[in-house]
Amino acid sequence: MSDTPPSRISRATFVKAVAALPVVGGALLNSACQSSKAMGNTGGARPPGPIDPMVPGPDGFALPPLPYPPNALEAAIDTQTMEIHHGRHHAGYVRNLNQALADESNVQGLSAEELLLRLGAVAESKQQSVRDNGGGAVNHTIFWNTMSPDGGGAPTGELAAELAKAFGSVEAFKTEFSAAGRTCFGSGWAWLAMHFNGKLVIYHQPNQDSPYLNGHMPLLGLDVWEHAYYLRYQNRRGDYINNFWKVVNWPAVAERMAQAKAVLGLA
Ligand code: MN
Repeated sequence: MSDTPPSRISRATFVKAVAALPVVGGALLNSACQSSKAMGNTGGARPPGPIDPMVPGPDGFALPPLPYPPNALEAAIDTQTMEIHHGRHHAGYVRNLNQALADESNVQGLSAEELLLRLGAVAESKQQSVRDNGGGAVNHTIFWNTMSPDGGGAPTGELAAELAKAFGSVEAFKTEFSAAGRTCFGSGWAWLAMHFNGKLVIYHQPNQDSPYLNGHMPLLGLDVWEHAYYLRYQNRRGDYINNFWKVVNWPAVAERMAQAKAVLGLA
């Protein structure tokens, strides 16, 4: 886990300052690609911080490199889609996030995840752009890092046990997560996330809305925007989702779950 708050203040001071920032609660989930399962959130409660944060450098946020070559996930996603998706779409979200934050001096230094957890700290005129582009920057980073050319198979250990406890079995989890992706009307994402009380939840959200907006820790996300699959799969989103399971990086998901528990004080 990266631990790089602004260096001029201590981590404890930084966390306390961030926790005191206002949040935006309430009506974040009222759109078409939305599941009632996400609605159990309280408006204001938030985890104390994110996991594996994207921290800005002197020139703002940078596009993280793909953790493997663009042709590495051919079992699920073709090379051209990976190149366009990372090099243009993801890059565009990062660029637009930097642009939105150019005049936002009171949130300089916050990680992209913290901006989503505390969207109310951003000037109202910039909140939609930060929600969309900050979400896009964060979501795609999670997406690349929770897939691998060595992925697939089944989760093991504590992750497998937690999925079985929450959803009945690992297979039942996969079925429910796949359905969340299939039934997301229009553009959005399917998510496995951890509520700040430790409960695992599955839902879909529209556009680039991040689970952090709900006060949830995102553990695994599946991009179901058409740009994520259309070149190879055209309208066959279900085939794309079925093949996604061949490249899921279960150890990375398990690591995110362990980090989330640590941040939430549940480890
Ligand atoms: Mn995308």
